[in-house]
Amino acid sequence: MNMQRESAAALRKRRNTLVRRLPPLRSILRGSLIERYKPCGKPGCKCAEGPGHGPKYYLSISYPGQRPKMDYVPQEAAGQAAEFLANYQRTRELLEQICEINRELLHRREML
Ligand SMILES: [Zn+2]
Repeated sequence: MNMQRESAAALRKRRNTLVRRLPPLRSILRGSLIERYKPCGKPGCKCAEGPGHGPKYYLSISYPGQRPKMDYVPQEAAGQAAEFLANYQRTRELLEQICEINRELLHRREML
């Protein structure tokens, strides 16, 4: 998208569209969902032939200067967790685009 060719009015209009596309901000989650399979180790269990029992889900979140933290996510919550994680990514992308528009308006000395 070549922003330089858009009028200030068009930029503001597009900004409104971006704001409307924001996911519900209560429904966001940062991190990533990790799937794990584990063999139980019981003799004769057929899980030994495959990757193990699972999937079990974990939410992995990183913090600056720390090792990532892992939280177990029950199966029944995994779908919603995945949705919230996607919402967070979507929110970040939209905020970035909104910021770029505002930066362009500021650069042109246009009304924000
Ligand atoms: Zn097993």
